[in-house]
Amino acid sequence: MTKRVLVVEDNELNLKLFCDLLRAHGFETEAVRDGRDAYGRARAFGPDLIITDIQLPHVTGLELIAEMRGDDQLVSVPIMAVTAYAGMGDEGRIRAAGANAYVSKPISVMRFMDVVNGLIAAGPVSESMDAPAPSALAK
Ligand code: MN
Repeated sequence: MTKRVLVVEDNELNLKLFCDLLRAHGFETEAVRDGRDAYGRARAFGPDLIITDIQLPHVTGLELIAEMRGDDQLVSVPIMAVTAYAGMGDEGRIRAAGANAYVSKPISVMRFMDVVNGLIAAGPVSESMDAPAPSALAK
């Protein structure tokens, strides 16, 4: 069955890059440009993975992640954050919000797909976040 990936990204070039890459690897994608739409679109789409930019207008990626984690339908969906400004403190905040992995921009195509495939292979995440998949922790 085709795996579904919801992509939240306000930058049109990145959005196209991510969705093109994912579709080329056999995933079905749902593109969300406005973070304010992400929660409703995620509920309707039923993704196997959510990829979200952190720097978004109107709502931050961290807020989005927390919102997904507070929803009983989305709580177990793996979340991959993508950010241009990931220092060590940022990574901690991103993980504390409930993301299972992050990739820094500009992305390496190989690393991007490695993390996507690792999260998809690991499947639904535990609500406790105590034991993320080892593949999701790979740098
Ligand atoms: Mn952005």
